[in-house]
Amino acid sequence: MLKDKDEQRTSLASLGEFGLIDHLTANFKITQSSTIKGIGDDAAVLDFKSKKVVVSTDLLVEGVHFDLSYMPLKHLGYKAVVVNVSDIYAMNATATQVTVSIAVSNRFPLEALEELYAGIQLAAKIYNVDVVGGDTTSSTKGLLISVTAIGEIEEEKITYRNGAKENDLLVVSGDIGGAFLGLKVLQREKSVFEVNPNNQPDLDMYSYIIERQLKPEARKDIPVLLNDLDVKPTAMIDISDGLSSEIMHLCKQSEVGCNLYEDKIPLDPQVISTCEEFNLDSTMVALSGGEDYELLFTISQEDFPKIKANPNLTVIGHMTQASEGIHLITRANTKIPLKAQGWNAMDADSE
Ligand code: ADP
Ligand code: MG
Repeated sequence: MLKDKDEQRTSLASLGEFGLIDHLTANFKITQSSTIKGIGDDAAVLDFKSKKVVVSTDLLVEGVHFDLSYMPLKHLGYKAVVVNVSDIYAMNATATQVTVSIAVSNRFPLEALEELYAGIQLAAKIYNVDVVGGDTTSSTKGLLISVTAIGEIEEEKITYRNGAKENDLLVVSGDIGGAFLGLKVLQREKSVFEVNPNNQPDLDMYSYIIERQLKPEARKDIPVLLNDLDVKPTAMIDISDGLSSEIMHLCKQSEVGCNLYEDKIPLDPQVISTCEEFNLDSTMVALSGGEDYELLFTISQEDFPKIKANPNLTVIGHMTQASEGIHLITRANTKIPLKAQGWNAMDADSE
């Protein structure tokens, strides 16, 4: 995408570091009342009054976490913000600010960073967060991007991973497995393209799963929904690594066991059809896929009537005594111990 002959290429050196920061952040506006001072001084100044503050950071490295041959820079900027605000929502909190730090090699022209920042700005608008600072430096090779997200919450609503109790219901938002399959499709198209660059793939039938990979959304709506329904989750985590490993985190930290029901796992029809095409088991994909950025949480049974009619939420299991272990109850009604398989369990050569 950086190779178009007629594409403009302005070298970063021609702007200098301060000119670059000014240029990239010129259009950023402050909208949160908690932001007292944003970009421009030695530090941002924030005021959360009586609220508690939650903070989370992620670092994304080119070649490890993203591949620019199928990840447009605007999408990368968007995704870098999304994966961070998702962690704030997983605390049941509201995201309010982010900082963005980049290390960039001189192979990137200014226009590439403008694309990256267009994605960051769009995500900041959609998720209603102020960009209040960051750092800019050079790298010898490749691009690194680190986002820190800040959020606010009333103390009594903070939801940790360790609050799940025996007999609580396990609930997931949306559907899962799509992001991993979207990556599979993109990887396949990349290798086809490398063999025959004239091959124009028709990706319409994969639009949902590709979007789940390239333009994931965080569940900003879920903490609001739970609050409106008067449900305080007992424990919560976002699904970044895959359902299986997130369930293990909740169980380990809460000192409980879990029964997960295979037939309850919510799957999009495109996930099911693409699994058939790739000869993958859809349950394995849901358990180990990752990057779905849905929220996984537990609620006490008495809250079940409040959530049961909601199309955004699916009860997929229940918590047990720790001594009962963590199991998948299959469609055939057999009980299989759950393992925290990462990608590697499914595909030895992907990350
Ligand atoms: P310092 O020398 O104290 O690190 P900088 O000159 O790096 O300060 O930063 C100046 C201002 O610009 C600060 O408010 C900083 O947070 C902000 N800033 C620097 N880099 C970025 C970036 N990549 N994105 C957003 N804000 C940035
Ligand atoms: Mg700096």
